[in-house]
Amino acid sequence: MSATFVPRRSPRSARQIRWSRHLVQTAIVAWVAWTIWSKAVAAPGAASPEAFCPFGGFETAFTWITTGATVAHVHTANLVLAGIVVVLALVGRGFFCGWLCPLGSIQEAIRGMARAVTDRAPWMRRTGRAIRANAPWWPRVDHILRYGRYVVLVWAIGGAAVTGVMVFREFDPWNALLSIAEFEISTAFVVLIAVLGLSVFVDRPFCRYACPLGAVQGLIGKASPLAIQRNADACLGCTICNNACPMNIEVNQVTRVTDTNCIGCLECVAACPSQNAIAVTVTFPSRLPVHTSDFDTKEGVLL
Ligand code: SF4
Ligand code: SF4
Repeated sequence: MSATFVPRRSPRSARQIRWSRHLVQTAIVAWVAWTIWSKAVAAPGAASPEAFCPFGGFETAFTWITTGATVAHVHTANLVLAGIVVVLALVGRGFFCGWLCPLGSIQEAIRGMARAVTDRAPWMRRTGRAIRANAPWWPRVDHILRYGRYVVLVWAIGGAAVTGVMVFREFDPWNALLSIAEFEISTAFVVLIAVLGLSVFVDRPFCRYACPLGAVQGLIGKASPLAIQRNADACLGCTICNNACPMNIEVNQVTRVTDTNCIGCLECVAACPSQNAIAVTVTFPSRLPVHTSDFDTKEGVLL
């Protein structure tokens, strides 16, 4: 049997990938926190932090195009941010979700802290494994629940177009997060608490199952030339990338990750032990053949 030697990815490059993203996420969360604080304490008369929600721009799009007006609570800033999000999705797919969205970053931080605790307690790891082993139906349920964000998208945009009111606003954890300084117990606040609580157990639950902004970006991002690309010749078929992916994408089953759930977090790239197996690439046209299982033919691997 012949052996294939592949260069190992340096731990330094993995650290650089992760820390770059965490640095950007921290800066954005800090900026949002400062904005909320400055509205509540320093300048109570300033523009509402709601103006920083890009989804408001999508909710008002129909009304704005057809009448020139915006629905209640929408600011010009929402429209500008929605335009920026469209451009970001066209250029970098789910980059906004994985790098810039403060709600996504907070969910991720909670999950990371929960993992840090369970990783240090063997009995918790055993319990987690036992739960997963006894719930073979979960991947199917997870798959079905992911359509939830498209349902929310249609409801939010359709509802705003028909009624002239942001129907999703009352349930929107983004809205609750941005208005947290006013500390009003509302449905949106309860949704926010539920999302943060679920984040202990599930990676990015709101992003996976309910975020209409993520749904918009997933759909627009399909046209993006930028994507994670797997090189089957250097791939070891180890599935480490699959386990690292917070969105449960089976990276080792595709040559190019065009899944609408991809948030561009690069965790799969950082985790991959083979230096040349997986990377971000720019390709025109954006859709290439996606599925492959050619790593099965590899005869042997030495790291
Ligand atoms: S791409 Fe995935 S399966 Fe292939 S070597 Fe990297 S981590 Fe392993
Ligand atoms: S495929 Fe890679 S970049 Fe996309 S969500 Fe999964 S880990 Fe992140």
